[in-house]
Amino acid sequence: MPRVAIIGAGVVGLSTALCIKLQHPSLGLTIIADRFLEDTTSDGAGGLFRPDDRFVLGVDLSTLRKWSQTSFEHFNNIIFSNIGAEAGIAQVSGYQLFNEPRPDPSYQNIIYNFRHLSKDELATFPDHYKYGYFTTTLYVDTRRYMKYLTKILAEKQVTFVQKKINSIEELVDSYDIVVNCTGYGARELCRDELIHPIRGQMIRVRAPWIKHFYYTDDNCYMIPNYDTIVLGGTRQVDNDNTQVDLNDKEGIWQRCLRLCPSLAQAEILWHWAGLRPNREPIRVETETIKHDNKQLFIVHNYGHGGNGISLSWGTAVDATRLFSSYLNAISTADKQLSSKL
Ligand SMILES: Cc1cc2nc3c(=O)[nH]c(=O)nc-3n(C[C@H](O)[C@H](O)[C@H](O)COP(=O)(O)OP(=O)(O)OC[C@H]3O[C@@H](n4cnc5c(N)ncnc54)[C@H](O)[C@@H]3O)c2cc1C
Repeated sequence: MPRVAIIGAGVVGLSTALCIKLQHPSLGLTIIADRFLEDTTSDGAGGLFRPDDRFVLGVDLSTLRKWSQTSFEHFNNIIFSNIGAEAGIAQVSGYQLFNEPRPDPSYQNIIYNFRHLSKDELATFPDHYKYGYFTTTLYVDTRRYMKYLTKILAEKQVTFVQKKINSIEELVDSYDIVVNCTGYGARELCRDELIHPIRGQMIRVRAPWIKHFYYTDDNCYMIPNYDTIVLGGTRQVDNDNTQVDLNDKEGIWQRCLRLCPSLAQAEILWHWAGLRPNREPIRVETETIKHDNKQLFIVHNYGHGGNGISLSWGTAVDATRLFSSYLNAISTADKQLSSKL
């Protein structure tokens, strides 16, 4: 049996591990990461399914549609099963509001109920946005979803190891195939200059009367999750500060309050800042490295930017396809070797 490690325990690493395990149940898998669950970027994300082509650059539209569709179907299957609540995934409808016109999003035929807002509807919002649309999509409460994925993986005998990997080469003695899902960590691990941080800050509140999501083009969003509402946000390119910034905190609060004054009654739970691991394009590809006369097969799956939750299952399926072709190549080579013996 080939020895397999997945590096990274964010939503991308856990999804890819599960996808591989479902495809190859007898394979032993080890997930190695220096951060798990609430210490990952994935844990803090807003989790709205909104894979906007304006923010997924360098990926051709048909691939983006395939990743989006595959993910959406996966999440929908969970919603309409008996594990929807445990996994923290549910349908949510809401409004996207703009001051400038913009093309309809590429995912409009994947989600439900896409329609443009009438003038009367737009006028109901305090800031009188000029354009907008309504959609029914879904949210993934990643705090719950990651716990759910971790539980399923543990039940399937996947091993978890907490460790920082300083170079991929250090794994050649211990593993035959490595799946690299290190998110922003790939910048250092793979010396990948194409990956950039886009910093985002948010406030989690309890405001159970807010049932819709709102997204505006002037840095204001509200996303209902399982039992909290996520208020954002900021989008600061090449800023890698994960500390909560007081000015950002105040800016987010004031923008959200202007759109939804009833938030004044909300209970503030916590503040959070994280780095969207942005890469043009998202890297889903293979690489083979040689070190000390040994060969290591690598499947990369990282760089999902602000859409890592939305696209996690779709890219995991593609990474698993690449993984399976490596596995076939290894087993064919083994058979050829034994026939020569
Ligand atoms: C403010 C904000 C809001 C967001 N909102 C949304 C949203 O609404 N919808 C959406 O789809 N996406 C959203 N995102 C984006 C989403 O959070 C990311 O795209 C996603 O979490 C990336 O997942 P990941 O698994 O690649 O990375 P991570 O969650 O960062 O996980 C990386 C893993 O790799 C490990 N690792 C890295 N380097 C090493 C190393 N050298 N050795 C060992 N382990 C290593 C880490 O420990 C970690 O376990 C948001 C992001 C932010 C910051």
